[in-house]
Amino acid sequence: MKIASKLTQLGRDPKSHHGTVNPPVYHASTITWETLEEFDSIREEMKAGKKIVSYGLHGTPTQFSLESALTELEGGYDCRLFETGLAANIMAIIPFLETGDHLLVSDGIYGPVRNFCSNWAKKWGVETTYYDPMIGSSIEELIRPNTRLVILEAPSSVTLEVQDVPAITEVCRRHDVITVIDNTWATPVFYRPFDHGVNISVHALTKYVAGHSDVMLGAIVADEKCWQTIKQSASEFGHHASPDDTYLALRGLRSLNPRLKQHEASALKIARFLEERPEVVQVLHPALPSCPGHEVWKRDFSGSSGLFSFELPPMERKKLAEFIDGLKFFPIGGSWGGYESLIQPFDDTLTRSTATWPFTGPLMRISIGLEDPDDLIADLKAGLERLKVS
Ligand SMILES: *Cc1c(COP(=O)(O)O)cnc(C)c1O
Repeated sequence: MKIASKLTQLGRDPKSHHGTVNPPVYHASTITWETLEEFDSIREEMKAGKKIVSYGLHGTPTQFSLESALTELEGGYDCRLFETGLAANIMAIIPFLETGDHLLVSDGIYGPVRNFCSNWAKKWGVETTYYDPMIGSSIEELIRPNTRLVILEAPSSVTLEVQDVPAITEVCRRHDVITVIDNTWATPVFYRPFDHGVNISVHALTKYVAGHSDVMLGAIVADEKCWQTIKQSASEFGHHASPDDTYLALRGLRSLNPRLKQHEASALKIARFLEERPEVVQVLHPALPSCPGHEVWKRDFSGSSGLFSFELPPMERKKLAEFIDGLKFFPIGGSWGGYESLIQPFDDTLTRSTATWPFTGPLMRISIGLEDPDDLIADLKAGLERLKVS
């Protein structure tokens, strides 16, 4: 089955819900049984590792539906939903660590994951080394006997470097180091991390899967080796995904393919427009040859989504405000992947460990929504003209 068809089919079972196309939303904490025999058999099935409705915390058919769809889309072993993408990111790290362990984390990683490693992991006696996202197989030189996990994100969600995931996972498998990737940018539509050797794939479903800027939700998809640890720790730490938000993400999943295709086409058109503008220093978009890791993107990804960055020349904050504040379609916003466009400026206050911040002017990250790209281009063009760079 092709991906577009999978997105309409997976996780649905009308027969078990009176024929309704979509699974209903189960609101549940307590699950009841009438006989001791039933109660005992449920416990046996749980012990055997079966996913079963036993308490609201562990999920109901609403969550199981999205979990099974994501598992199949990614080609993992199983999936667990979390209340946010960040909780999923953190819970893909914590259960594998012990005091004295070592973590290798991409220097382009999502900021709050860096905060977790630099603050909490450190406090618990786990040392983190940040590595250049473009490191490839040279990661081998950084692996120590106590290195437990390598954390990846491809591409980095602000600076867009595309990591050579197979080169890194090949090394990690030889050293028995677990690899975790944040696949939020590409989604399972454009990238299948398990085909490239990772053990764990993490998603902020908040972004493209939910797609409408009104849901917080995360997921971990794991391979067989890591699944039991993920499953057990998620419940033991008390994580839970709201059934209503899960339902909205499932609904979002059904239209993910055509939405992403439109995000992709519009973002490319706008990236190419920006590349030609004299006011723009550079455009960082994985599908453009100038982006670090473009060749890897071409080899391993089947498309590009709507999030990318461009650098403006150094300027006063007041001038930057003239550019941003006058934009009609681009309010400043920290999340992305919704139907509406957003912009967010980044500067050298963004932490980097392996290199100094390579940009001299402000870096503008934009999320291209589902508006007509020509309207967005006209808006950005007027904004750039306000900068009056000769
Ligand atoms: C937004 C984001 C997250 C966190 O997701 P939330 O649902 O907002 O907690 C994780 N990784 C990346 C790359 C993100 O952009």
